[in-house]
Amino acid sequence: MDNYQIADNFSLLAKLLDIHGENSFKSKSYASTAFAIEKLNLPLIGTPREKIATIKGIGTSAAQKILELLDTGKLASLEEIIQKTPPGIIEMLSIKGIGPKKINTIWKEMEIENVGELLYACKENRLKLYKGFGEKTQANIIDTIEFYQKSKGSYLYAQADAIAPLITDFLGKKLEGIRMALTGAFIQQEEVIHELEYVIAATAENIVKILLNTDGISLEERSENMLRYNSSAGIKIKLYPATQNSFPATLIRTSSSPDFVSTLEQEYPHIFDENGQDEIARFENAGLQYIPAALRYDASTISLAKSRQLPQLIQPSDIKGIIHCHSNWSDGSNTLEEMAKAAKHRGLEYLVISDHSKSAFYAQGLHEDKVSAQHQQIDELNQQLYPFKIFKSIESDILNDGSLDYHDDILASFDLVIASVHSNLKMTEEKAMVRLLKAIENPYTCILGHMTGRLLLSRPGYPVNHQRIIEACAANQVVIELNAHPSRLDIDWRYIKQATEKNVMISIDPDSHHTDGLDDTRFGVMVAQKAMMQPKQNLSSFSLIEFEAFLNARKKRKQW
Ligand SMILES: [Zn+2]
Ligand SMILES: [Zn+2]
Repeated sequence: MDNYQIADNFSLLAKLLDIHGENSFKSKSYASTAFAIEKLNLPLIGTPREKIATIKGIGTSAAQKILELLDTGKLASLEEIIQKTPPGIIEMLSIKGIGPKKINTIWKEMEIENVGELLYACKENRLKLYKGFGEKTQANIIDTIEFYQKSKGSYLYAQADAIAPLITDFLGKKLEGIRMALTGAFIQQEEVIHELEYVIAATAENIVKILLNTDGISLEERSENMLRYNSSAGIKIKLYPATQNSFPATLIRTSSSPDFVSTLEQEYPHIFDENGQDEIARFENAGLQYIPAALRYDASTISLAKSRQLPQLIQPSDIKGIIHCHSNWSDGSNTLEEMAKAAKHRGLEYLVISDHSKSAFYAQGLHEDKVSAQHQQIDELNQQLYPFKIFKSIESDILNDGSLDYHDDILASFDLVIASVHSNLKMTEEKAMVRLLKAIENPYTCILGHMTGRLLLSRPGYPVNHQRIIEACAANQVVIELNAHPSRLDIDWRYIKQATEKNVMISIDPDSHHTDGLDDTRFGVMVAQKAMMQPKQNLSSFSLIEFEAFLNARKKRKQW
């Protein structure tokens, strides 16, 4: 073990003590020991053991630790504190700009335990509420984390969606005149993307030759049917060489699950003929409805296409209103008026404003007096913006015992209530179910918000029994949100069919905290398509008139 490694151990120990908010005298002394060791000219390993304690900057107790490291390669006190620290907290140390003291606040006060949650909190403007965290720090942390995450190789669909046109453009210029098309997970509209994949009408040799010595990409792996490149954008690029004739078949193969491909191969082998016809013609000639890449994961779709039962999938243009968004009445960045005008400007018919409820102190949730003040403003704006309409809503915290955050008379003052869990997310399934089922049974709950609390690439949701939740929502006529924030996409689309089969309505909601976020509904639509959702199954596809009728019928039914 060399001096630098020894110093690193002391330095990590000092940082972890600060993160835990322990005795700062101790952490300072370890930090200065680390500093002293780094400056030494002689290797500690060759220094007589009894002399170590006499070296400047190293005392008896540090000397003991150094000997422990030299003898065992480990430091028991460091191991012990690592054991007590969530891995996500230790990971935060690799983010420049947030030192141990800030991490202590993030962990202990904000109850954030990993990098992904931290990023989400920054984007919701939550950090700047704490001492020592200004707007600038918040913006810096966002930049650093985004960079950090990219370098780890996984991307939210929305991030890949922003990079894909740049990469396509870049490759298009290099491979000028050669036919190419995006394929793989990206066109299958997966919620997390690990690489951008393309079919290229050229041989592997040719592609390698053309892309040789190109700035920004480097060949990482090569086989007969595939080339994988690293890109300076971070995301990996996978290329499938093809001929003009095999191009459409390669496109179908590389944008389908193995199960889907093998069923097609068995039942409709001609789809893979090398005859140059395009993708759509191939399905038609096989007597099948065209199956878009988003649906090429489950082989049972093929029999639906055979009997022409594939439904008309919901499209971004089928969204008629914004349900679930925040203004600067709570933790949003824009005023209510700006949010409403931005929705109106997008050709939408209504906006359901659902700021946070009073328990959400981190998000400046609304106390009762603010609720009525906001309602007054909504009434005024509605006169101005007619026929566009703002609906009065709240994103009410589902409290620990499953109750909602206000008395019934306040809850009754809203046009609709969205109930979501925001606190104590670490729950067993049993606990989560008690909480959620009670909230679903509350007569004021209209929509169950982000059902599992997951944040893609950063936090798994709390465990739930989807089937029982869906049944409870069916019994209580509660709508299940498909939260369209690219980090959430919660309810997971894989459960949507179960819900729609039970006539449970889904609502594709952006949960936007700023005007730009209104466009996130698109990402909800992308995954809803995978679940074969139709516009009539989505609440936010209701026209203003239909939406009002829905709310009135609901109020009558629930008798309030
Ligand atoms: Zn929420
Ligand atoms: Zn929200």
